[in-house]
Amino acid sequence: MASQTNNTIRAIDKESVHRICSGQVVLDMATAVKELLENSLDAGSTSVAIKFKQNGLESITVTDNGCGITDANLETLALKHYTSKLQSFNDLAHVRSFGFRGEALSSLCALANLTVTTSTGSSPTGVLVEYTSDGTIKSKTPTPMTRGTIVKISNLFEGMPVRRSEFVKNIKREYAKCIGLVQAYALIVPNVRISCVLQMDKMSAVTQIATIGNASVRQNIINVFGPKAMADVIEFDLCLVEGISAASMGAMVKAENENNEDEGELDSKGDIKLTGFISSPAFGKGRSSTDRQYFYINGRPCTLPKLARVINEVYRSFNTNQSPFLVANLILPTSYYDVNVSPDKRTIFLHNERMIIEELRTKLTELFEPSRSTFAVSQAR
Ligand code: ADP
Ligand code: MG
Repeated sequence: MASQTNNTIRAIDKESVHRICSGQVVLDMATAVKELLENSLDAGSTSVAIKFKQNGLESITVTDNGCGITDANLETLALKHYTSKLQSFNDLAHVRSFGFRGEALSSLCALANLTVTTSTGSSPTGVLVEYTSDGTIKSKTPTPMTRGTIVKISNLFEGMPVRRSEFVKNIKREYAKCIGLVQAYALIVPNVRISCVLQMDKMSAVTQIATIGNASVRQNIINVFGPKAMADVIEFDLCLVEGISAASMGAMVKAENENNEDEGELDSKGDIKLTGFISSPAFGKGRSSTDRQYFYINGRPCTLPKLARVINEVYRSFNTNQSPFLVANLILPTSYYDVNVSPDKRTIFLHNERMIIEELRTKLTELFEPSRSTFAVSQAR
């Protein structure tokens, strides 16, 4: 390969840096949708509606009824590393919001056309703001609007020919990935109506997901997958480590509890728990794929490959015929893990992961033990 260097080291121009970095933050359409959905949830919305035009090729619109954005914040809204959720590195140990890096809207401006319509509800008029690719305001128009925010992105990846052509080529798969992602949030988020609509032309719109804003994961599962999905499913609440505040994590968790007045679903005793739903190994010769397995840390969708492996291993030691349907939420103090590992925050660095996993293996085996004889009987039939 010919040398492409010359002897002078120079800074890349700002606009190019912005595009290079943005392409790493928003890898694909699913990442874009994830960022917008998370922003709506962080804004305290009770309703989030996502609309894909032409599977997202034309535009994606996310409409929420959250807190809205004040006029003063519109200038900096789409600038890199501007966020209302985190101020310093230390805050990261207690972060409970989905977002905190202030990168998503800035990156989306570089990769698509972005408009925001928003109102804090203090008057019947909101504002429609168009942003330039560097995240500054291009135009601002008053518009009637109730409390909430509408973010629309059009022509995603248009300025990146390779990615746009791959995006167009694989649009069906990209769209399916988005639906899977929205389902993961719809299953776990309490009290928020989440809907997803596909609009192929002016005349036809198909609702793909519609939850009714239930408080329980059980009800959400029924909304997303239908009542059949709950047949032969066991609910579990496994305590994996008791009161880590009193044990190894003493100082860390004490500090966390002092700083964290609103603990949400966190366990106040500092226990590490795994809660959720799993197919009973007593029945079924059905699904072999693991595509309906959803993992969360404190309600944040993520990948937990080692946890997934051990759960599937234990399950298969009881039922060799299928992989379980699974919704698993690991509940633990926020200082026990690091979400700032990958740009999409789905990879999580978990403190003492091996200990947690071994405990899970034991507890899950205990949970499944009563089903061993039933499975043997159902197999013999
Ligand atoms: P982050 O979520 O990491 O803060 P973003 O670029 O996604 O970064 O968003 C920047 C800021 O814009 C957020 O901190 C939030 O204050 C505001 N914001 C974005 N989307 C919404 C929304 N739907 N409703 C209210 N505020 C929003
Ligand atoms: Mg965000």
